[in-house]
Amino acid sequence: MPRIQCPRCLRPHTHCLCSLIPSLDSRTRVLVLQHPSEVNHALNTARLAALGLNNAQLIVGEVFEDLPALLNLPGYQARLLFPADDAQPLQAYAEGDQPLLLVVPDGTWRKARKLLHLNPLLAALPRVTLAEGGVSRYRLRKAPGPGALSTVEAIAQALQVLEAPVSFEPLLKPFEALIAGQIEAMGQDTYQRNHGDQ
Ligand SMILES: [Zn+2]
Repeated sequence: MPRIQCPRCLRPHTHCLCSLIPSLDSRTRVLVLQHPSEVNHALNTARLAALGLNNAQLIVGEVFEDLPALLNLPGYQARLLFPADDAQPLQAYAEGDQPLLLVVPDGTWRKARKLLHLNPLLAALPRVTLAEGGVSRYRLRKAPGPGALSTVEAIAQALQVLEAPVSFEPLLKPFEALIAGQIEAMGQDTYQRNHGDQ
């Protein structure tokens, strides 16, 4: 029998994370472009990020027809959060800076690359990265990007850098509960064996 999902966070009703999802304001607008293969993944952290930010949007697809309109948003400068040799490390806004439209491809490394390949406008955007590469607290799966951050962690860290001293820590609340649930489900022993000492 299929488990009944919460329509908002897409978790099983018994493990709904909605009560932990914040409602945060940000100057930065976040646009997550999610590969369809991620939608029903147990660790759909991009969705948690999009739900927790008032100025964010998540679109699922492979080819995004509306990209010109989505990327040319008045008042924002579009940047792609994705590694490249010439990617600029993110830094805090200076006075008078236009806020970023931070475009975040979501999927495995391979799927994220595919999204760029299928959407030349996306691939052509100036790129930004997290200065430190970003450090994940968890290593449950291979995630794209330096430091193998989950998408919600990458977004929280990016906003933290851009909008310091505003804290985006609450964005990680449902993610932490999700991870705790995963660890519990797989058993602490297995977790230690697979993910300890890294
Ligand atoms: Zn929910």
